[in-house]
Amino acid sequence: MILLNPGPVNLSDGVRRALAGPDLCHREPEFSDLQDTIRRGLLDVYGLAQEHWAAVLLAGSGTAGVEAMLASLTPQKSTLLVIENGVYGERMTRMASVHGIACVTVPHAWGAALDLKAVTQALERERAITHVAVVHHETTTGRLNELAQLGEICRRSGAQLLVDGVSSFGAEALDFEKWGIAACAGTANKCLHGAPGVSFVIALREALLSSSVAPRTLYLDLANACREQDKRGTAFTQPVHVMHALARALEEFRDAGGWPARHRLYAELAGAVREGLLKLRVEPLLPAQETSVVLSAYRVPAALDYDALHDALKARGFIIYAGQGRFKDNLFRISTMGAITPADMERLLLAFRELMHPVDSPAH
Ligand SMILES: *Cc1c(COP(=O)(O)O)cnc(C)c1O
Repeated sequence: MILLNPGPVNLSDGVRRALAGPDLCHREPEFSDLQDTIRRGLLDVYGLAQEHWAAVLLAGSGTAGVEAMLASLTPQKSTLLVIENGVYGERMTRMASVHGIACVTVPHAWGAALDLKAVTQALERERAITHVAVVHHETTTGRLNELAQLGEICRRSGAQLLVDGVSSFGAEALDFEKWGIAACAGTANKCLHGAPGVSFVIALREALLSSSVAPRTLYLDLANACREQDKRGTAFTQPVHVMHALARALEEFRDAGGWPARHRLYAELAGAVREGLLKLRVEPLLPAQETSVVLSAYRVPAALDYDALHDALKARGFIIYAGQGRFKDNLFRISTMGAITPADMERLLLAFRELMHPVDSPAH
C-alpha cells in the first residue's frame, strides 16, 4: 500500500530492518550512544551547533513535541500569541488553554496567507506578548507559512518564535538563526522517514534551560528531558526500536543529500501529481508556490464523492487523505513523503484517470 497521508509514511527497507535492531536497556551506554547519535543527527539536518542548540527526544507523536514545546518554553508570566490558519494552529491554542498559558490569537481563514500586519498590530496592542507560536507547514491545506518576515517582526518586538515544524522539518528551508527561531517541534515519521513513536524539539539552549518555567507537566517537561539527555540518560523509557529506525532514517537522509535533496525529490513527486491531476481537471486549493512540497490539497471533483474516491484508490493500492473539519467533504490531500518513487505517482495518476474517465482509460 502506498501511503499518501501526511505520516506515518512508507518505510525504506533499511529503516524497516532497523526496527528489528538489538534490544537495549535504556540505562546502558549502548542506548546512550544511540540517543547521542540521533540528537546530533537532528541538529545536523539544519547545521545547528551543539553548544547553542539542543535536540530533545520525546516518546510520542508530533503533538507531544508541540505540546512539550509550548508548555516548557513559556514562563508563567508570559503571554503567547498563536497564529491560526488551520487545524494545527488552532490545536496550539487548545494546548495553551489546557496548560493555563495566557494566550492571544490571530485567527485567519483556513488556508489564508499569514496577515503580518494583523500580527504586528496584535504585538503592538498586547505589550505582554513574549512568545509567538506558528505552524510552518499547515498540513490542513498544504500552505507553507512564510517565516522569514514573521521572524523579523518577532525580533523587533522582542518575542520568541516557537514553530510547529512537524510536517516541514527535513524537507523545507528552516533558517533557525536568521529567522530567530527559539524552538521548533518535529517528528520521526514525516519528512525524516522514520517510524512513528518519537518526536523531538530543537531549542536554543538558552531559551530552554535558563527560562524560569515551573514545570506544567511531568512527562512533557522538556528542560528536564534535556538535562537528562545531556547526561546521556533519559527521564523515561524511550521507544528503543523506533529510535534504531530513526538513526537509520537520518543516515539515509544524510547519504541522499540532506534536506535540499529531499525538498527536490518531494517537489518532483508533488509536481507530477499536480500536473497530472490538473489535466483531469482536478483543481488544487492553493497555487504551487504557496504550497509546501510535502502535501497539496485538491478539490473533490463535483462528479465524485470523497469516500468513493478514497475507497476506489485504496482498492488500487493508494491511501489518500480526507480534508479536516469543514473541508471534510470537499477537499482531499496528497502527501508525497516516505519511500515512494516517481513510478508510484505515475500509477496513481493512471488510477485517477481510470476512475474519472472509465471508458477511454484502457486505451492509455
Ligand atoms: C502531523 C502534524 C502534527 C502532529 O500530529 P500527530 O498525529 O501527533 O503526529 C502536528 N502539526 C502538524 C503541522 C502536523 O502536520
